[in-house]
Amino acid sequence: MSFNNLDQLYRSVIMDHYKRPRNHGILEDENSITVSMNNPSCGDKIKVSLKIQGDKIVDVKYIGSGCAISQSSASMMTEAVKGLSVQDAHAMSFDFSEMVQGREHNDDLELGDAEALKGVSQFPARIKCATLPWKAMEKGLREAQQKIE
Ligand code: ZN
Repeated sequence: MSFNNLDQLYRSVIMDHYKRPRNHGILEDENSITVSMNNPSCGDKIKVSLKIQGDKIVDVKYIGSGCAISQSSASMMTEAVKGLSVQDAHAMSFDFSEMVQGREHNDDLELGDAEALKGVSQFPARIKCATLPWKAMEKGLREAQQKIE
């Protein structure tokens, strides 16, 4: 596949998540935790809800507004981390962040559709858009941890 075709494929994956968000919404049950995070440089807003049982993320949803990169990244993030252990979700967020910054990343964990955001590394101003939902997810994991302690 030529670079241009791959680029087009990635773009269509991103637009698909933007137009048909997966895991959209907020978890209402009392054992879930919801955190908000903004990216003022672009105006992106994200709210991520997590439900953790033991050390597993059993459910995750998001709502938000902003650019296609931030919102599609949120949708991809929810698909990627659902069912993972808290530790693996942190590791995956780190890998994702390395990937969108154009650094070598460990691909032991399946990023799934989030791989489509690889090209963001060519647009430094958009890196924070892509990582916002992942940072929010990590913030939620830390808050959930504190709630247990
Ligand atoms: Zn943005």
